[in-house]
Amino acid sequence: MPDLINCRAIVIAGRDLGESDRLITLYTSAKGKVSAIAKGAKRSRKRFMNALEPFTLLQVSMALPRTSGLIRIDSTVIVESFPSLRETTEKYCMASICTELVNLWTRENDRQDRIYRLFEWYLGALENDKHAKLATLCFKVKLLSFAGYAPDFTRCLKCRKRPHGSVVSFQIHGGGFLCRECKEKRDSRNTISVGTLQSLRYMQQAPLDRLQRLSMGRMSLESAWSIVRNMHCHHLQQVPASYLVLSNMG
Ligand SMILES: [Zn+2]
Repeated sequence: MPDLINCRAIVIAGRDLGESDRLITLYTSAKGKVSAIAKGAKRSRKRFMNALEPFTLLQVSMALPRTSGLIRIDSTVIVESFPSLRETTEKYCMASICTELVNLWTRENDRQDRIYRLFEWYLGALENDKHAKLATLCFKVKLLSFAGYAPDFTRCLKCRKRPHGSVVSFQIHGGGFLCRECKEKRDSRNTISVGTLQSLRYMQQAPLDRLQRLSMGRMSLESAWSIVRNMHCHHLQQVPASYLVLSNMG
């Protein structure tokens, strides 16, 4: 008998495997990211009853291989299917970006409770929240920290003082900001307001259940979005495909 494991899992992606099966990528509470075979899922969609669609939260029972070979999905129960993520284009795009980022940032069989909790929190927040982009930004700021690339939103990279004045210059490669005194006078790239910087710091430090208190103006949200997007792309050394879909939407 193979070892059985029963845990929560979020569907990241899936692809056909051979004549009748599908290979599903899951982010699980027990083992982090795993690839698992869903026997018969290609031949008969009824076998798993839509449980293997991206963003679905499952209670899953899996059989682990004794030596080598694939993990096998034995049974699934849908805990939450997050229907609104499939009904609005913006939410679908946002969920796609975050799901792709989890896939890119994590390795298989590397359990990370913080990332699992963040992912489950995010899908619920996106489902219930009207402000998809703000919830997505919160997710991405925290994911960057959990991946080991937490930017310093508190002190200037050069003089180590807290920000003063109204704006700072964010340094994507440096992982922090230069204050008004330290930045090149003519350098206006990635200039953000101190208020935006404080919002980013709040996203990084506040517990998940406090994040819904945050609100941001549109300009502030857009400048923070651009910086966090560029930081992910810089550290991953690629532009995730979901961003290109979003930018093609205009
Ligand atoms: Zn400074």
